[in-house]
Amino acid sequence: MNSIVDKKNLLDLSYDETIQFFESIGEKSFRANQLLKWIHQNGVTDFHKMSNFSKLLRNYLSDNCIIEYPKILLAENSEDGTKKWLLSVGDNQSIEMVLIPDKGRNTLCVSSQVGCVVNCSFCATGKQGFSRNLSLSEIIGQVLIAENSFGVPRKADNKNITNIVMMGMGEPLLNFDNVVNAMKIMRHHSAYNLSKRKVTLSTSGLVPEIDKLSKVSDVSLTISLHAPNNDLRNVLVPINKKYPLKELLDAVKRYVDSFNDRRVTTFEYILINDVNDSLDTASELADLLKDYPCKINLIPFNEFNLSDYSKPSNNRIRAFKDHLVNKGFITTIRSTRGDDIMAACGQLVGQVQDRTKRKERLEKKVKTIEINA
Ligand code: SAH
Ligand code: SF4
Repeated sequence: MNSIVDKKNLLDLSYDETIQFFESIGEKSFRANQLLKWIHQNGVTDFHKMSNFSKLLRNYLSDNCIIEYPKILLAENSEDGTKKWLLSVGDNQSIEMVLIPDKGRNTLCVSSQVGCVVNCSFCATGKQGFSRNLSLSEIIGQVLIAENSFGVPRKADNKNITNIVMMGMGEPLLNFDNVVNAMKIMRHHSAYNLSKRKVTLSTSGLVPEIDKLSKVSDVSLTISLHAPNNDLRNVLVPINKKYPLKELLDAVKRYVDSFNDRRVTTFEYILINDVNDSLDTASELADLLKDYPCKINLIPFNEFNLSDYSKPSNNRIRAFKDHLVNKGFITTIRSTRGDDIMAACGQLVGQVQDRTKRKERLEKKVKTIEINA
């Protein structure tokens, strides 16, 4: 995002590029850490307030640079404490992010793309089609906005966001460089200083990118599994046709083995009524994952207008979970949060805009058929 064309948006620079930038204007590399601290730890984006920069540097930065990130279009608070933002990223496009407070933790769910090309059959984001990747400033800007919502200037020991999950709109591994650079800033001690366990990337399962990730990042990886066999997963998560289950699970194993930290992988599994929630399917899932150090996170399907799928009854959800627990798996059910503000990923934007105008087109089609009849 560069609204003022000839000014450089410093939030679009990776950490390494920030160092290079300061060196290119004759400054020492430690200025990069100072800048990160001002922006991300103090919430200061006015160069004139960066008091440990010389007057000359402050003037240079305000003449030539900007710090720009998405604008808030809508901020909603749920009764259960969940907060949700709709953010403008220019050109009439918007993204969303959600902050979920739970047991002393504040988990921020961050978007990586406008829409998503993977088009999982249960996902509101997929139904919007794909527009574009988010820039680095648009990704890390989400964290900045959420952190600032706790107040600026920050309190001395303040660390409001405790966990970040790349589980908002989009497939993060399809926006590889910007996502990796944003996660480096989330992890950096001069910025959000989050440990590798507190930053999680969720993916629908892009095998080459999982291998690539292990070379440049050590964040936690969550796999959106949703089905225990290829026939079902091909329907729910179409990228499975390209990277089938065995290849995916092998890549996950390679990722885990590349770090010597005995990590366990989380597999996400959306439970959709009469689609993937039978006890036979649970048995199949248990067989598939029996050799993996893993946790299974069950997510009751979040219903939305453009989908015919429905959420299973609580009894069915519990039975599915119990079956896995009896087979020895650590299994959790993700509690539905922020229901009153449509806090499930992709749903708020879905309310505001349906980019593919699917519904209208479908309605028109029905009308045409009626007229022809
Ligand atoms: N593209 C990545 C990350 C974003 S999707 C991925 O697929 O992993 C984030 C999470 O939201 C995924 O676990 C996805 O399965 C879940 N999700 C999408 N639509 C949902 C719905 N209608 N109900 C419940 N969870 C949903
Ligand atoms: Fe994309 Fe993830 Fe939604 Fe699938 S679930 S369409 S990969 S955002």
